[in-house]
Amino acid sequence: MKRTIVFTIYLLAALSLAAQPKYVFYFIGDGMGDVHITAAEMYRAAIQGDTLGRVPTRMTQFPFSGQLTTHSASNAITDSPAAGTCLATGQKINNHAVGVTPKGDSIPTIAEILKNEGWGIGIMTTVAIDHATPASFFAHNANRSNYYPIGKQLCNSRFDFFGGAGFHHPEGKYDNQPVNLYRLAEKQGYTIAHGYQEALRAQQSAQKMILVQSTDDRGAKHGSCFNYVIDRGFDDLTLAQIVQVAIPFLQQRYDRFFMMVEGGMIDYACHEDDGRTAIDEVWDMDEALGYALDFYNEHPDETLIIVTADHETGGMALGNGDYTLHLDLLQHQKCSAWALSDMFNYLFRDNKKPSWQDVQNLWREQLGLWDSIPVTLQEEESLKALYKAVVSGKAKDIETLYQDLNVLADAGVQLLNKKAHLAWTTHNHTAHPVPVFTIGVGAERFSGWHDNTELIPILQSVLHP
Ligand SMILES: [Zn+2]
Repeated sequence: MKRTIVFTIYLLAALSLAAQPKYVFYFIGDGMGDVHITAAEMYRAAIQGDTLGRVPTRMTQFPFSGQLTTHSASNAITDSPAAGTCLATGQKINNHAVGVTPKGDSIPTIAEILKNEGWGIGIMTTVAIDHATPASFFAHNANRSNYYPIGKQLCNSRFDFFGGAGFHHPEGKYDNQPVNLYRLAEKQGYTIAHGYQEALRAQQSAQKMILVQSTDDRGAKHGSCFNYVIDRGFDDLTLAQIVQVAIPFLQQRYDRFFMMVEGGMIDYACHEDDGRTAIDEVWDMDEALGYALDFYNEHPDETLIIVTADHETGGMALGNGDYTLHLDLLQHQKCSAWALSDMFNYLFRDNKKPSWQDVQNLWREQLGLWDSIPVTLQEEESLKALYKAVVSGKAKDIETLYQDLNVLADAGVQLLNKKAHLAWTTHNHTAHPVPVFTIGVGAERFSGWHDNTELIPILQSVLHP
């Protein structure tokens, strides 16, 4: 009996050593630190009346987890393309570059290597398909902001599927002889699908696909990013829909596939220090992850899912005073700081000077201040002083990476964050380590504390034992 058990253990060990995944899902929450995930989980519990508990995300229920340190070759605090390149190649590069060494040499990415080995490749995001993280898997340029040449590299990548907001600069604004990138992509064999329904219709016939948001998506910043979940219209393209289209698209055409799925708007919300919006974006990526998990449950012996982040954004903290959290208050926020900023700018359009009541009403309606959340006399005086400064032209917008925020929108959202006891240290990235969660074939090898250079070698050792 004992010998049989020992033999069985050896056999299982040998099988697990020999097993190689045929399907790899690589989820990257841009800017997503441990705290963002904990905030998302505690918020869901708090709005159900449990101020101490968590509603677990799918990712934190994975059997294996670890941490990655994230500095770049040039900076203690990495930017997205340097971190993305490291997550795609295993090599550190300078901030601002994508896919090239500090000397300017191109570094092959895991997606390019697997494409050459005959794998199907899908790259998807909630921001532009040529933005830093997706670009890290197909582009090689000393400056991540060279969107047009990076978009050209996308068209020439031979990858099978792209999904996201579109090209950032499709007209080649910075190029002497521009060719529209959508036309170039079509020339290279891609079908451009606008929205979920069009993608479903083209799913069988398309050779390769670029799925972008429909021109009917209300309010979306076309080509640059999706609407935040909190501002989403009912027909907006979602990350979950993209994953739903991409899985059968790749599976029907290939024996093996690799998918990178980025929750890109998490980072946007954290650059704006917008707690509720960031929380919703974490849940949105987790929902997309649900479709990968369904696939894993159907193919558990052939699938590997990795969920990680490129860096932490905002220095988010839970706690800013006493030993309590009031995350449930964030449920009164009705729109993102970005959308609220647009509303305030509209109120002040053409040098209009709205009344204190008009301004107060906007905070009241969109953030629940005064009506659902008591505001102290001191806090009200401080908001009133800011209002007077704006009216007299003495207050400036808050500069963030993706959009300048109206100072009144920012002040309202920050007061709400403060009352929820959710705090921020910066509008930029931090050097905090980021989590890694894994499930499936070879998942155990990613456990523990690593530098971000080690993830790709571990993945390679799983794929090429
Ligand atoms: Zn990033």
